Amino acid sequence: MMHNITIAIDGYSSTGKSTVAKRLAKALGYVYVDSGAMYRAVTFYAMQKGLISKTYFHEQQLIEHLDAININFKFNKDLGFAEVYLNGENIEKHIRTLDVSQFVSQVATVSEVREQLVLQQQHFGKHKGVVMDGRDIGTVVFPDAELKLFMTASAEKRAQRRYDELIERGDEVSFEDVLKNVQTRDHIDSTREDSPLTMAEDAIKVDNSNLNLDEQFEFIYTLAKAKIAEYNQ
Ligand code: C5P
Repeated sequence: MMHNITIAIDGYSSTGKSTVAKRLAKALGYVYVDSGAMYRAVTFYAMQKGLISKTYFHEQQLIEHLDAININFKFNKDLGFAEVYLNGENIEKHIRTLDVSQFVSQVATVSEVREQLVLQQQHFGKHKGVVMDGRDIGTVVFPDAELKLFMTASAEKRAQRRYDELIERGDEVSFEDVLKNVQTRDHIDSTREDSPLTMAEDAIKVDNSNLNLDEQFEFIYTLAKAKIAEYNQ
């Protein structure tokens, strides 16, 4: 019988983690889980309920609402990936906006939020055969993952990619705002007290500043196949 492994992909904002993670999961026949989408879903909920804005964050109230927040993924055959649902509603299109990006890192500092999402993430991965991307997957969610990758690229490259993506969707944003958001999130994510973004000791660093999507995929796919072979000897 083939033994599946767990693949953890962490790194800074907009390093293309989800693009490569999705493709890798598909090639291996594994499940892909976008943990950032879960933090975004909680943030979207907080915004809808008026618990967070540019001037305030009612953290305690959000914690009291946590039991009422139900996050799920449902595979969309046409798109070829799982979309995120909040209390039964498909919110995929609402969570990738710059608005949500501007509040998500603050929400992700709350330990009670993290605790709940981490439990759910561990549940998704309990049978292995999962590729999960995020900020603390190799350090906190799956410290025993057989393959851990840590993705980096220059802030400008990352902002440019995110900017192109938002413009293509038809969002009106400026490059400066996108760059500022990428830098602010990296700062908050790396310096928060609970589960800060940091490279696991046993992670492999992948700087993709100068790799195209295919080169990056081939590099990571080769690593994954080698690891899987190692666990199936
Ligand atoms: O991956 P994505 O950019 O969608 O993540 C959005 C935000 O969610 C991150 O900037 C970070 O604040 C938070 N996050 C986290 N831990 C994860 C995944 C995302 O704190 N595992």
